[in-house]
Amino acid sequence: MTRIHDLPKPGDPAVRREPDSRTRVSEPTIGVLGVQGDVSEHAAALERAGARAVWVRRPEDLDAVDGLVLPGGESTTLRRLLDYEGLLEAVRRRGQDGMPMFGTCAGAILLATRVVGAPAPHLSLVPMTVSRNAYGRQRESFAADLEVEGLEGAPLHAVFIRAPVIEAVGPGVEVLAREGGRIVLAESDRALVATFHPELTEDYRLHRRFVEKVRARRNASPVREAGC
Ligand code: GLN
Repeated sequence: MTRIHDLPKPGDPAVRREPDSRTRVSEPTIGVLGVQGDVSEHAAALERAGARAVWVRRPEDLDAVDGLVLPGGESTTLRRLLDYEGLLEAVRRRGQDGMPMFGTCAGAILLATRVVGAPAPHLSLVPMTVSRNAYGRQRESFAADLEVEGLEGAPLHAVFIRAPVIEAVGPGVEVLAREGGRIVLAESDRALVATFHPELTEDYRLHRRFVEKVRARRNASPVREAGC
């Protein structure tokens, strides 16, 4: 069930903030930006995909995470809330340092270096141009089965809700899937961006792909490993 406009509440059982004794060393900790959107759904999907999920609501919450999911919602509202919490700069800095990020729908808009019609981008971390609300009224929300580059098994069932499209990708960004000829899923070394809502289906393949990206980055980063 979509809860796009719900603000998450502290204590949501799907989001564990404290380390858990069951945590394995190989299990990366991935934050879910928790200011708006499907926070608990993403957290549950990450845990199913082999990560420990934590809720990121303040800049200091970022200290404990190896990767970050930016959920969908409303990008203008998300931007305001990020500014208000002092998170915009903190997230941007971690992104510039190379921390992997997975932006879904409005989260992808936040990551783009260019948003059509907007005077300036938000986080400007992934070289790509996006258009907001890119589908006509009758298709504002729809589902489609996607053939995804490098994803084993059946096509990916994807739910689009007032979705953007990726108009173009820049250097280092690879297109992974299109819907009706338009780019809806792309990837770079450090980022995964989807214009749809992978947290709303029980298919965890994209979350798993992101967890692998985070694990690879963490294993390649001796400084963070030194304390383990
Ligand atoms: N339409 C929203 C925006 O422009 C995105 C919708 C979503 O995240 N489901 O920000």
